Amino acid sequence: MVRSLQDVIADILDYKGADVEKIDEETLNALLPEGLSKTLDIPEYASLCFSWEKKDGTIDASYDSYLFASIKELFKEGGFTYASIPSSNFNLEKIAKGINERIGFRNATFRLEKTEIIGFSYLLVFFKYVAISDEKNEGILPFLLNCMNLSSIAFEDYPIELLENLEQGQGQEASKDLLINAIQSAHTSAAHIIPERLKDFKNSLERRLNRDIKRIYEYYENLKIEVEKAIERKGSTEEDVEKLRNKLDIIESDKRLKIQDLIAQYSLSIHIEPLAAINISVSAPIFWINIKRRLSERLFPSSYNPILKQFDPLPCEFCFNPYDSYYVCDDNCHIICGRCFKPCPSCGKQYCRACHKGICPKCSN
Ligand SMILES: [Zn+2]
Ligand SMILES: [Zn+2]
Ligand SMILES: [Zn+2]
Repeated sequence: MVRSLQDVIADILDYKGADVEKIDEETLNALLPEGLSKTLDIPEYASLCFSWEKKDGTIDASYDSYLFASIKELFKEGGFTYASIPSSNFNLEKIAKGINERIGFRNATFRLEKTEIIGFSYLLVFFKYVAISDEKNEGILPFLLNCMNLSSIAFEDYPIELLENLEQGQGQEASKDLLINAIQSAHTSAAHIIPERLKDFKNSLERRLNRDIKRIYEYYENLKIEVEKAIERKGSTEEDVEKLRNKLDIIESDKRLKIQDLIAQYSLSIHIEPLAAINISVSAPIFWINIKRRLSERLFPSSYNPILKQFDPLPCEFCFNPYDSYYVCDDNCHIICGRCFKPCPSCGKQYCRACHKGICPKCSN
């Protein structure tokens, strides 16, 4: 089930010790501990309203609201809170058997070197996005990122009991560098995924833009036809014709300006920011695989996700939003997806986007 804004806020309040009750699709009643009500600057018993239409006696909790902005306050210490999940028993032998189904490369082989259960962390990040053009579209996208190997997944359908089962304030504090690196990777991934999620919004935008351009175009073309008719009319003096030709030029440049305005009006900008993040310490199996590509090799920690109870997908070390199959590059044994290993559209050279930061080494495109 995809978690709505209301669900996510309910989860976060619940995680912070409130009693929440969903009244309907737009209303949430919450009984807050004193500290929480102070931080959010709302009464201890509050009825939160998620609809655009404001209702009497309720507190606005929509994306533009003061309350929404203050949710960030709940994640102090640079935006993070720490938690852990209870450790469980893993049947390593059984799990290892599934590794070949979940992990594979198009141009490289791998061998399982070592298996161990170790402590590391996942970062659950809630990104807020706002897409603005002539209309506005906003939402929340939760992400789960493995801080050890940067495997990331859009986690819109995380289990409801996940936040409830977290042991708050527990677990290892992660280093700042590790967390920044993890947030950046998750952000890169979100920047790829969110536009894909907004496909319908973008399509409708393009449809309206095309419709309006057509209207403007036809309007000005009709004006031009009228003027051209006047030019051809018998009895016009040379002076009249000259004036009319000037008029034609003005109509043409007006048309271009109007179309440029329309394109600007419908241009889409997407803003993404992390709203909250929870560092979740786990104790889980790591399967060290030795990846072999030609003469190079690399030891990589593939992980079994104790929340999802399956192998984490391999990361793409450039886009963090793997698409199609996985490749390994010659120079640095980067793991990259099909999209980030495809030939350069300008010169046709196949290259690793992670080695070259997305710029073709042959033609600099
Ligand atoms: Zn990629
Ligand atoms: Zn190129
Ligand atoms: Zn590379």
